[in-house]
Amino acid sequence: MAQATRTEKKDAIQAPPELPQCPTGLFIGGASREASNGATSPVVDPALNEPLVEVAKGTAEDARAAIDAAQQAFENPEWRNMDSAKRGKLLLKLADQVKKRFNDFAVLEMRQNGKTMREAQGDIGFVANTLTYAAGYADKTHGQTIDIPGRFNYTLREPLGVTVHVAPWNYPLLLSVRGIAPALALGNTVVLKPASWTPLTSLLFAEAAQAAGFPDGVFNVVPGPGGEVGETLVTHPKTESVTFTGSCTVGTHVMEQAAKGVKRTVMELGGKSPVVVFPDADIDKAIKGIGWGIFANAGQMCWAGSRLIVHEDVKDDVYNGLKTFAERLTAAPGWHEDARMGSLVHKDHMKTVEGFLESAKEDGANLLTGGHRITEGACAKGNFIEPTVYTDTTPDMKIWQEEIFGPVLVATSFADEEEGVRLANDSTFGLWGGVWTRDISRAHHMANRIDAGMVAINDGPITFPQTPFSGFKQSGVGTEQGLYARDQYTRVKNVMLRL
Ligand code: NAP
Ligand code: MG
Repeated sequence: MAQATRTEKKDAIQAPPELPQCPTGLFIGGASREASNGATSPVVDPALNEPLVEVAKGTAEDARAAIDAAQQAFENPEWRNMDSAKRGKLLLKLADQVKKRFNDFAVLEMRQNGKTMREAQGDIGFVANTLTYAAGYADKTHGQTIDIPGRFNYTLREPLGVTVHVAPWNYPLLLSVRGIAPALALGNTVVLKPASWTPLTSLLFAEAAQAAGFPDGVFNVVPGPGGEVGETLVTHPKTESVTFTGSCTVGTHVMEQAAKGVKRTVMELGGKSPVVVFPDADIDKAIKGIGWGIFANAGQMCWAGSRLIVHEDVKDDVYNGLKTFAERLTAAPGWHEDARMGSLVHKDHMKTVEGFLESAKEDGANLLTGGHRITEGACAKGNFIEPTVYTDTTPDMKIWQEEIFGPVLVATSFADEEEGVRLANDSTFGLWGGVWTRDISRAHHMANRIDAGMVAINDGPITFPQTPFSGFKQSGVGTEQGLYARDQYTRVKNVMLRL
């Protein structure tokens, strides 16, 4: 029997908030336009499976036009010779525009993605903070002098030129702006291709950039199919760098394509991140951290703590606590006041997640809670999956190895630290890892041994614009956020002058 999650007790779907006014055309060279062939594509509300709006569906021709616009804007002295302090001010104005239309951004993000309103608000706050942070280093990023006898030697830190950004659907605007903000702060121009399921906030962002006063062509957005628009942008000879956030499969292909033109890449790919719980941990805090670390955003997080590795002495307490946490989590359309978990982004993606639930059954994983689609009450029409936990999973199971990208936690137990470390690192991914312990030496020791770009001690997955975000192993290449991001969007030139 399906667990009685809180959802099923509620039957009425509350009316969703009206869709804010939002541009639906491609944004190229400072103006909104239709696709070259007039085609459009629907954006669907995944909590209701009802269409929201039609958006222009870009073509290869549109992608080339956007690159041309970005290239011209890069060469235009208005942008190229702009004082770096002024660029910083433009980013601050853009942050102000985002704050001014905060609710519109949040409602659009919620309705196109399926996340809860409070999650959407968190995303948009992060967007504004990212812009503000990058604005701060626009005029503090510069070259150096190097002492060489008899010569005057110095470096210039130059912008790259046209930067392409290909975004996923799970944090549509936040993950786009993570690359766009440093690119613009450091004098590059941008062409963004949002994910086909979630283009709306990127288009509203383009309107905000124009209102902030960015010169035409500095920022362009081309929604459209990855295979056509994405591929054309990535392979275009004028594209200098590609920032890709998405799956490992597509990312590998994009890297190959970019390599043919010897382009820079930043790759933020998938994960299957471990959370290791030691017997001396604060178990109540750990349960909350683990719970939100897998069920936030309905588990559609690249760095979800999706593999729980718990010491055998405390596993019963942790499992019981997680069962209660999961069963108390209210799944509902994002605008419901008590919604704590929203829907999955799309019917197709829900089918993929259901396939993993099937494989868990076949592989004999022990179902602790959840395991089904929610088909009743306020969730009946949408793509909702119960918060799910499997215990006694083994490393040969598909649900242990592969990224599920849904609200599904797989758990196993360990006997000593060596075994815990071995299990934690038993993955082709290396994005994030969590450690719960009160032993400070062990905490640092574990931080050192976990093979991942980020480690949290006594915390869930959490990040800030000023802290670097990078994937090790097959989770990615390059670093976003923090001051490290500046290296991805500038090139170093050396100048040698003989005295
Ligand atoms: P995806 O299927 O790889 O798509 C990502 C983007 O690539 C979309 O905009 C997609 O366009 C585009 N694309 C598809 N084929 C392309 C091609 N041949 N050339 C250029 N672009 C192409 O990923 P997703 O399903 O949207 O997102 C989920 C994945 O993203 C998960 O694996 C997750 O772990 C990862 N992710 C990683 C991070 C991180 O920071 N490491 C953050 C978030 C998500 P269409 O939408 O038109 O297909
Ligand atoms: Mg996809």
